[in-house]
Amino acid sequence: MSSSFQADLVACLGQPVAENPTGVMQEAAFRALGLNWRYLTIEVAPVNLRDAMIGVRALGFRGLNLTIPHKVAVMQYLDAISPDAAMIGAVNTVRRDGDRLIGENTDGKGFLRGVRNDAGTDPRGKQVAILGAGGAARAIATELLLAGASDLLVLNRSRGRAEPMVRDLASHSSTPIRYQEWRGAWRVPSDVDLLVNATNIGLYPDVDAMPPVDLSDAHANMLVADAVFNPPETRLLAAARRRGLPVLDGLSMLVYQGVIGFEHWTGQSPPVHIMKQALTSALL
Ligand code: NDP
Repeated sequence: MSSSFQADLVACLGQPVAENPTGVMQEAAFRALGLNWRYLTIEVAPVNLRDAMIGVRALGFRGLNLTIPHKVAVMQYLDAISPDAAMIGAVNTVRRDGDRLIGENTDGKGFLRGVRNDAGTDPRGKQVAILGAGGAARAIATELLLAGASDLLVLNRSRGRAEPMVRDLASHSSTPIRYQEWRGAWRVPSDVDLLVNATNIGLYPDVDAMPPVDLSDAHANMLVADAVFNPPETRLLAAARRRGLPVLDGLSMLVYQGVIGFEHWTGQSPPVHIMKQALTSALL
């Protein structure tokens, strides 16, 4: 019998949030380690975020995930922001340090852990091309720069979103960072080592959409990674596989950002394969 009937609480706040599968993998990990913890998925409208954060403190929540539209707005209700979350300009995870709430961003770190653990690649010294300039692209780019990527090219449809991102990144890094406008099919140059799709292209329900890139010149070891996790096998990854290129799916990033959150909240290492299995069955 449990020695305490009081569960430790973690929540994901967002709107909409009902289709967010994160809770399934966190609950699976709590169960696997025998922790009396609960993960609640809660819809919070932007107008109620302030009150919700007062509630989080009053109810003693051990941690949070934040999703759309709260990743930036939540920062004003926290006691501190980690250096890389500050560099990214968004928080997707909150951890507790005593009574203080600390903002973290685990999206890019989750991507990075997937590159290392699942694809067996070290980004140090690698030339990177990122498609997209939204929140995911910013988080991934930040962590790849911190991990020692040697060159970063950002391709985005709209200049208005990409240029401020490139300026911000360049102000924190001495690595060469360039923006290129993305019009029509882009032929990926042979010196790119890591190509990342951080756009919505291919995301359910537009599963037949393919980012307009031409992989003909890609070198044989170029890793093709997709942030899109639903479906895990995007058209981009299928095209890369057909060419024999190594690939990394968006489930890897999603699982590892959850693993890092779990480590922050509980101080323990969760069973990664159980989290991945739970997530995969939830998405199926
Ligand atoms: P944002 O809305 O912040 O950014 C979307 C990006 O996609 C923008 O750069 C936008 O370009 C681009 N884009 C959208 N549609 C098109 C199109 N038809 N053609 C060209 N570019 C397009 O979204 P996020 O950054 O939050 O999310 C991006 C992707 O990353 C999503 O698929 C999301 O599911 C995934 N993601 C995955 C995570 C994981 O753990 N695996 C975590 C977080 C996100 P523009 O600026 O021109 O509009």
